Amino acid sequence: KSCLLQLRVHDVCCLNENLSNLRIDVTQNHATMTKRKNEDGLSTSIAIIGASYAGLTLANTLQQNSSSIKFTIFDSKTLPFTYVAGGDAFNVPSYSSLATKFSLKTSRQANNGLTRKDVTESLLDPVSQHLIVGTRIEKIEQRNNSFYLHTRQKLQSSDGASSTAAASSNNHRVHGPYRCVVGADGVRSKCRTSALNGTFLIGDARWVNDRWYDLGLRRIERGADIAILDGLELGELLLRAEGTENKDCHYSSQSFPLAARTKFCARQIQIARMKRIVSVLMVLVAMMVIKTLSMLQSLLLSILDRTKIS
Ligand SMILES: Cc1cc2nc3c(=O)[nH]c(=O)nc-3n(C[C@H](O)[C@H](O)[C@H](O)COP(=O)(O)OP(=O)(O)OC[C@H]3O[C@@H](n4cnc5c(N)ncnc54)[C@H](O)[C@@H]3O)c2cc1C
Repeated sequence: KSCLLQLRVHDVCCLNENLSNLRIDVTQNHATMTKRKNEDGLSTSIAIIGASYAGLTLANTLQQNSSSIKFTIFDSKTLPFTYVAGGDAFNVPSYSSLATKFSLKTSRQANNGLTRKDVTESLLDPVSQHLIVGTRIEKIEQRNNSFYLHTRQKLQSSDGASSTAAASSNNHRVHGPYRCVVGADGVRSKCRTSALNGTFLIGDARWVNDRWYDLGLRRIERGADIAILDGLELGELLLRAEGTENKDCHYSSQSFPLAARTKFCARQIQIARMKRIVSVLMVLVAMMVIKTLSMLQSLLLSILDRTKIS
């Protein structure tokens, strides 16, 4: 009798997509049972945007160390991935220790001139069953402590070329709910521009935009290496947080050490950026005020001189 049965449909959009987006909460004498399924049929909790060095390293870290953390990786590219930028020779020193740690298989030895293709494919292989390709994330929405991804599918034409049919509304889908979203989506990161609480940034998405002053030199020299290290570090933080978090809401970065919070939390990164912009603007305004005051002073002195002479 004391049972309270609550059926909740997330929203019209999800219902329209698939009835598996139905959440059932049964509460009995303070015990709560929650069953969640997303429209992909997976009980997913972390969404990783971007299947490149950062995103794939994070996915491997989660997969190798925990069976309880579920994740899905999204990428706008379609398979097979092409590796145009950066040429053949590729300098990623952290890869060899990662390959040993996760027993990654490459066709070549790690010290024998690995290419982008070798590195990405070895990272992709163990987590490929969690990958959704040809899906561009257009918007990240936060609702009831959960995240939903609004995506647009790339259409494959008969000649194999893919294109995003922006005009078609049929290829718009909503994925979720997720407890957390990680933006590993490179320089033009959607996750970075959304800067929602409970979302994280790794790789180029995290730092490249704030380092415009070296004209991208550090990125070309070490970008993928930093992305791999970021994926590993955030993965370990999420694994540690998993034990202490309330599983029914998003990962609160409060359980992270302060340095890690400032480093990876999208909101913190955005706040730090705003602070930098405001301080630069304040310095500029102060310089202008000082300049104007000194001009007024010299004008006043010249007027006084002229009145003295006359
Ligand atoms: C010419 C050149 C040479 C380089 N050489 C080196 C080198 O030798 N060593 C080195 O360490 N680094 C090098 N870099 C840098 C390195 O390539 C990048 O820093 C690295 O790729 C960053 O990895 P990432 O995982 O952060 O992001 P990216 O590799 O940029 O991956 C982002 C992924 O997110 C996907 N994505 C983006 N937006 C969306 C969206 N809205 N929805 C779904 N998916 C999305 C993209 O398709 C992509 O797969 C070089 C770069 C260049 C340009």
